[in-house]
Amino acid sequence: MNYKITLIPGDGTGPEIAESTKKVLDATGVKIDWEIVEAGIDAAEKYGTPLPENVLESIRKNKIAIKGPITTPIGSGFRSINVLLRKELDLYACLRPCKSYIGVKSKYANIDLVIVRENTEDLYAGVEFPAESSESKKIIELSAGKIRNGSAISIKPISRFATERIVKFAFQYARKNKRKKVTAVTKANIMKFTDGLFLETAREVAKNYSDIEYEERLVDNMCMQLVQKPELYDVLVLPNLYGDIISDLCAGLIGGLGIAPGANIGKDIALFEPVHGSAPKYKGLNKVNPTAMILSGVLMLDYLGEKNAAKKLEKAVANVIAEKKVVTYDLGGAAKTSEMADEIIRKLKM
Ligand code: NAD
Repeated sequence: MNYKITLIPGDGTGPEIAESTKKVLDATGVKIDWEIVEAGIDAAEKYGTPLPENVLESIRKNKIAIKGPITTPIGSGFRSINVLLRKELDLYACLRPCKSYIGVKSKYANIDLVIVRENTEDLYAGVEFPAESSESKKIIELSAGKIRNGSAISIKPISRFATERIVKFAFQYARKNKRKKVTAVTKANIMKFTDGLFLETAREVAKNYSDIEYEERLVDNMCMQLVQKPELYDVLVLPNLYGDIISDLCAGLIGGLGIAPGANIGKDIALFEPVHGSAPKYKGLNKVNPTAMILSGVLMLDYLGEKNAAKKLEKAVANVIAEKKVVTYDLGGAAKTSEMADEIIRKLKM
């Protein structure tokens, strides 16, 4: 049976790495019927909206999608399509494995961490009020002098429901993947109600997984610990904002964004995408590293139960990186995006 999978190339350098990823995934022998749909800046110019309706329709129908990065205009313009997709499809778990590969220049070796980030609430809920709006004035009044007049306000919602399911996801992932420890990361000493609820809920969930060690860290301390002793950590579970920041920190530990894959997973829909953005300055140059999106494809194959193909593809990627002959600029080579993908295919077929 062929899998029907939605492919969103994205914008900026997205289409280049998406094309390479599609080619590589086809070369694994797993039969995929691709449904290609457009979202992002180019779609906005063509269709008048950065997220045409057929994108969500296609993902809802196929239940599996892989996407290239999509630019988010800073300050004004449309809101993040990436955040919108995760919210609309209730892809509540953002999974970001960070693993060292031989051949990637980094200050660290043997990193093997997994970030599980809550994807639907926190300061990313999109509940914001501009300065001087009637809503922000009301909240300023409610704050009884704690918020300065004229402030713009973003709301940080954290619920027991969303925390329970993300922490369960982290523990179940740990169990399924033979991981030993889950660390909950918050700033509960300062945000006693929001992060406090996250922590309290995490503790309750942890009681049901006595086979897996559970511990807690404050996010500032976590940053320092990850830089000094990353080997002490295994699976980290975090609210949305800290998860976003710590993911990039961990991508830095393994040598950069070019090799960091990701997945957004909901109850029955999953969307796979690299951690990095659209790197617009390199658009059209066939220059950036396709590995992060290809490794997102490995996560997708694994999710589909195509364990063999996933393993073989990861090995092919690891071999190409270790040889350092046909790799992109960020890995110290001069290969084009498409040439690195072709080399991965050559290794797959060996
Ligand atoms: P970015 O990840 O696009 O690029 C930062 C730098 O990292 C690049 O200039 C480049 O030097 C390097 N880099 C990134 N991807 C690379 C790759 N595949 N190979 C080699 N080097 C790579 O981050 P940014 O410049 O902050 O963001 C650009 C746009 O992407 C923004 O609009 C941002 O909102 C968006 N973004 C989208 C997603 C997503 O689609 N999920 C994620 C992050 C950022």
